[in-house]
Amino acid sequence: MTNARGFVAINVEECKGCKLCVTACPVDVLHLAESFNTHGYSPAEYEGDGCTGCGVCYYACPEPGAVTVYKNWAEAQVAYICQNKKVISSLSLVDPIKGIAKCEACGEQVILSNISNLSFAE
Ligand code: SF4
Ligand code: SF4
Repeated sequence: MTNARGFVAINVEECKGCKLCVTACPVDVLHLAESFNTHGYSPAEYEGDGCTGCGVCYYACPEPGAVTVYKNWAEAQVAYICQNKKVISSLSLVDPIKGIAKCEACGEQVILSNISNLSFAE
């Protein structure tokens, strides 16, 4: 990823496709997907690169849990605590648009919009 200080993960099933985050993003790295979620909305989607971690989209979004912003993605990636092996691990991106990473310690996929269930070292 180039120039990406931050990272944004959209929980597509919580998104109503209102586009407020798309309009609010100062660096224009969000758009609405061409696909639909199970509620029939086209959810917001990250371009996969360029997020600064500013958090504007998070504050613009009316849907709790739809937007997760990692303000310092580089640090978060190397401070991930593996829930299976209980060790400090690291994350590698599998799909930056869908917000899916892999835990390097156990190999399991991690949903990055599920931040309340993820742990990071200080
Ligand atoms: S955190 Fe800022 S730069 Fe990143 S997607 Fe949201 S509004 Fe755009
Ligand atoms: S502001 Fe929230 S609900 Fe609206 S499109 Fe963006 S993520 Fe979806």
